[in-house]
Amino acid sequence: MELPFSESYKIKMVEPIRKSSREEREAWIKEAKYNLFNLRSDQVFIDLLTDSGTGAMSDRQWSAMMLGDESYAGASSYYNLKNAIKNIIGFDYFLPTHQGRAAENVLFSALVKEGDVVPGNTHFDTTKGHIEFRKATAIDCTIDEAFDTTIDHPFKGNIDLNKLEHVFQTNPKEKIPMLIVTVTCNSSGGQPVSMQNIKEVHALAKQYGIRIIFDSARFAENAYFIKTREEGYADKSIKEIVKEMYTYADGMTMSSKKDAIVNMGGFIGLREEDLFKKASQFNIIYEGFVTYGGMSGRDMNALAQGLDEGTEFDYLETRIKQVAYLGNKLKEFGVPVQEPFGGHAIFVDAKRFLPNIPKEEYIAQTLAVELYKEAGIRGVEIGTLLADRDPVTRENRYPNLELLRLAIPRRTYTNNHMDVIATALKNVYDRRDEIKNGYTILDEAPLMRHFTVELTPAVKEMAE
Ligand SMILES: *Cc1c(COP(=O)(O)O)cnc(C)c1O
Repeated sequence: MELPFSESYKIKMVEPIRKSSREEREAWIKEAKYNLFNLRSDQVFIDLLTDSGTGAMSDRQWSAMMLGDESYAGASSYYNLKNAIKNIIGFDYFLPTHQGRAAENVLFSALVKEGDVVPGNTHFDTTKGHIEFRKATAIDCTIDEAFDTTIDHPFKGNIDLNKLEHVFQTNPKEKIPMLIVTVTCNSSGGQPVSMQNIKEVHALAKQYGIRIIFDSARFAENAYFIKTREEGYADKSIKEIVKEMYTYADGMTMSSKKDAIVNMGGFIGLREEDLFKKASQFNIIYEGFVTYGGMSGRDMNALAQGLDEGTEFDYLETRIKQVAYLGNKLKEFGVPVQEPFGGHAIFVDAKRFLPNIPKEEYIAQTLAVELYKEAGIRGVEIGTLLADRDPVTRENRYPNLELLRLAIPRRTYTNNHMDVIATALKNVYDRRDEIKNGYTILDEAPLMRHFTVELTPAVKEMAE
């Protein structure tokens, strides 16, 4: 008999989590104004709000922290990280930053001017924010298949070469400071970009003389999907694939809180010395001296180790198979989920789950609250609250998809937890016909309202 799959690690340290009663949770979520961001973490049993910075570090990472060198300039920890980036990714120049958006802030300060255009594949929200804040425009060139959940495509993060060439042809070269390739494409559900597409994008960009920057938070998961889905890569190691991917990049921004398995940190990697020098000035103003830039020595040590562990096949297989385990369990229960499964999260299709809730009452948010009440599980709404209002008309923007994202932290929960999540969602699904009321907004911020929005049930519940 073939042995079943199991985790590629054992557990040395544990953190207790507390179960709660439905009555407690109903009171807590009401007090939190039905916004899961307002809950205290001890009111949550299984926390799937994000997989960013919420993973478990290894014994090797913790021991590397003890060897951290906290010297202001030229710390050994800086050189450890520099070596790891050179060896694993291949860039000669790097700048540490406190997280991914800080890397964007520093690099874009050196590159992006008012009136510029920055093509890419569904720019991440902070990336887009840093482009638009500089009065430049982010142009989405993702393939159309990415936006249709019924189409099965192995690389829904791919860039459409025709859309990209159109941007190159209709804008002067000086107005295109870079092209951003997001690996994996977070905003379209953690969907990967194929090596073939990376190569073709590179060839086109070089033909037009445009710089390529990889937004790299989930670069290792992208490499895993290349290995397991793309012809010709099955026998290559993750590290070989990562190395090859970055031969097609001129630079990168990195949120180390994802695939590098640390709780905080980021960096910029570059090939060009001139750009490195220019960005260094901004790093000093915004982040810190070039050899620590917003990170302590111990954190740079843990990150160097995390880059190595995060690009090992066994670790990635454990992670991605756990996400798929949850996805398959939900499918078995008939719960509508987005496919193919991404690397870091399962997305529940809330419109198909709760057909009785009108879109004006925040369908995915309603489902997120129901799941919390059911079992203390915290997911996050990717729907109308997140899509925010039209800046001109101030009307709600209703996206095509109302999704509940269940992001799985790395090395943190077991498959027993996945069973609890799947069963809790099944229970909600079984009583979906009884869920008839969504929520209305009491108060909201003018921008990025989902973090602080205050809600109330759309119709007063009988019990109240
Ligand atoms: C998380 C993320 C960022 C921003 O990184 P932070 O560390 O959260 O600031 C940028 N791009 C992508 C693709 C990400 O996933």
